[in-house]
Amino acid sequence: MATNKLQVGILGATGMVGQRLASLLDHHPWFDLRWLGASDRSAGKRYAEACNWRLREPMPAAARELMVNDCVPNGNAPQLLFASLDSKVAGEVEGAFARAGHAVVSNSSYYRMEADVPLVIPEVNPGHLALVRAQRRERGWSGMIVTNPNCTTVGLAMSLAPLDRAFGLAKVMMTSMQAVSGAGYPGVPTLDILGNVIPYIGGEEEKVEAETQKLLGSLDADSAHDGHVEPGDFRVSAHCNRVMVEDGHTETVSVAFKSKASRDQVLAAWRDFEAPSEVRTLPSAPGRPIVIREEKDRPQPKFDVNAEHGMAAVVGRLRPCPVLDYKYVVLSHNTIRGAAGAALLNAELMKAEGYLD
Ligand code: NAP
Repeated sequence: MATNKLQVGILGATGMVGQRLASLLDHHPWFDLRWLGASDRSAGKRYAEACNWRLREPMPAAARELMVNDCVPNGNAPQLLFASLDSKVAGEVEGAFARAGHAVVSNSSYYRMEADVPLVIPEVNPGHLALVRAQRRERGWSGMIVTNPNCTTVGLAMSLAPLDRAFGLAKVMMTSMQAVSGAGYPGVPTLDILGNVIPYIGGEEEKVEAETQKLLGSLDADSAHDGHVEPGDFRVSAHCNRVMVEDGHTETVSVAFKSKASRDQVLAAWRDFEAPSEVRTLPSAPGRPIVIREEKDRPQPKFDVNAEHGMAAVVGRLRPCPVLDYKYVVLSHNTIRGAAGAALLNAELMKAEGYLD
């Protein structure tokens, strides 16, 4: 059936994040899912055969019959591609598609910290998208790569952004309790996680620390390099742990500010936080990017992970910290706000801002 929607595809369509993307793209008002790619284990099969569907929502009917392709840029994929590839292959595959003219909206960590690659949360730093101009010129790519943060960074950065603007961040300490779905499928072996906490997730702490500073950094659009992000001048220390929760990363945060703030002022900064007007109207933008729970024992993944369709950072338990200034809890959905939903919102912003014309 003819449609005015932009055709899109997914690289890594069969994995945990790829399945979320397929689900969120079903009946999307702007995008039409027409192409799927995965490894040679899946290529040549129908999506319904290739994919071990793990979501509660049924596999979208339109996706079931699509054939899975090899992840090779041979001219048959749409211009806009969402990427949720195994991190071991993401660098090579995403780079090949960007070089071949595709706009790749990536969930992988491979390019996130490259100076010319935008790392974007639309509610927080939409202007950083401008880095793609330097990226395309300097790399000679006719396409581009835009990234969203690690699933543990996103809730932290969203909850910190209004506090940084209002009071200036000095120090941040974060301890995560991360869901098993964050490790992909089949992910963490049952015998490792059952009744257990694993106090190590390879590379995660370094990612959270560096990405938070890049996201809350400032874009110097006049620099000689046609754009450069000066990292936020605060310190972050992250402790990352895997726990036996299905979906939703819960994080306990202590924070010190550069200027004094009352508890009411911190709450007001969160309550008044709004995305810029060009972001608020995007189809996947949450009505409230930050949801405040007033109960003494919330947020909890069991009750709060799907707030604003899984796109909110849910905060609560704000209280004074005897070491830094305040402490609180933040929760976000790792495969929606931390991955597929984040990439979708980035792509919507790219379309709205003319980056896909
Ligand atoms: P996953 O469930 O393991 O899925 C990996 C995907 O990559 C599958 O579609 C797989 O296809 C494909 N793949 C593997 N080797 C390939 C190859 N050689 N060529 C082409 N495709 C290949 O992983 P995931 O959890 O969805 O994560 C995907 C990416 O998103 C990772 O980079 C991860 O770090 C990032 N991420 C994940 C989360 C989360 O909460 N899960 C959050 C943020 C970011 P086959 O099925 O054919 O093997």
